[in-house]
Amino acid sequence: MNETLEGILKEVHQIRDQIKDVETLENFRVKFLGRKGLLANLADELKSLDDEKKKKFGYQFNLAKKEIESVYEELKQNLVQEPKVRFSFRHPGQKPLVGHLSPISLALNQAIKIFTNLGFKTILGSEIENEYYNFDALNIPADHPARDLWDTFWLDQKKEEEVDKKNQRSKKNKNKNTDRYLLRTHTSPSQVHYLEKNFPPFRIIIPGKVFRYEATDKTHEFEFHQLEGLAIGAGANLAELKGVLEKFFSEFYKKNLKIRLRPAYFPFVEPGLEFDVECIFCLNQKKKGCAICKQSGFIEIGGAGMVHPFVFKSVGLDSSKNYGYAFGLGLERIIMIRYKINDIRLFHSNDKRFIEQF
Ligand SMILES: [Zn+2]
Repeated sequence: MNETLEGILKEVHQIRDQIKDVETLENFRVKFLGRKGLLANLADELKSLDDEKKKKFGYQFNLAKKEIESVYEELKQNLVQEPKVRFSFRHPGQKPLVGHLSPISLALNQAIKIFTNLGFKTILGSEIENEYYNFDALNIPADHPARDLWDTFWLDQKKEEEVDKKNQRSKKNKNKNTDRYLLRTHTSPSQVHYLEKNFPPFRIIIPGKVFRYEATDKTHEFEFHQLEGLAIGAGANLAELKGVLEKFFSEFYKKNLKIRLRPAYFPFVEPGLEFDVECIFCLNQKKKGCAICKQSGFIEIGGAGMVHPFVFKSVGLDSSKNYGYAFGLGLERIIMIRYKINDIRLFHSNDKRFIEQF
């Protein structure tokens, strides 16, 4: 065979394994089969030969050309074809993506479990309330400064009146402020509903969403969750409250924690108090205090107190014969402490990077 042809074929077989993409394949085509490629150059030489040599060389030339063309086609097919998938029973399967509960649901479920073990029944109230249940019945009349503590989402009155007419809702409580509707600013109105329909003794918790018309920042959100407790009946005093809170937080944070009570004002309790829980971050350190608890060793959590006689009066119970305590806390707050989350807005951000950590 012609030495040049032999050299070309040798080169073709040397580089064919290196061709892994369309670009190198095209270079291959141009180099060997192109109009100014190596074969084309040889064909020009062919023309100048005499007839006998031309015949012999032409035969070899055509064989070589066919071979190179078939190599090209084969390479082209391999590149274009989808990679073959070989099935094997030993091949690990793909796990289907399964969702999970949000950190709020997880904490809520845990809280309900702990309180259930302590003898509390879980009650769910409605998120739309009227003025009477959200404020008046809880000793917060219209002119009371405590209403300023909560900025409220009021519902469109006209629409509500139309709904009332449609449903022909009877207005039993004509002397009460039941006409104006709002998104509840706290879970306490559900206490009033429950007290109206049930007789003590009982111990209940009311978890749920509450709404405040306010600007959001790292510690404020317009929608968040409260968990509220109410215990009425013999033994429902502040000593029991302290014990219940101590037990709850010790189980919730899985550490033995103490509770600190401080006097505070809430219209629907008397005496009212705020409660702090021992800081879970510097609990067992020799010198208590860290940046999170602002060197105090305790973290502020929520409010509590003995149910105000006014509330008993609102629901037609004799305050001289009934007594009990109530407490409330922000669910997001206790979750934020547990995981050191520094921005409450993350809970509703719908950010997978946040949600998938729980
Ligand atoms: Zn601390």
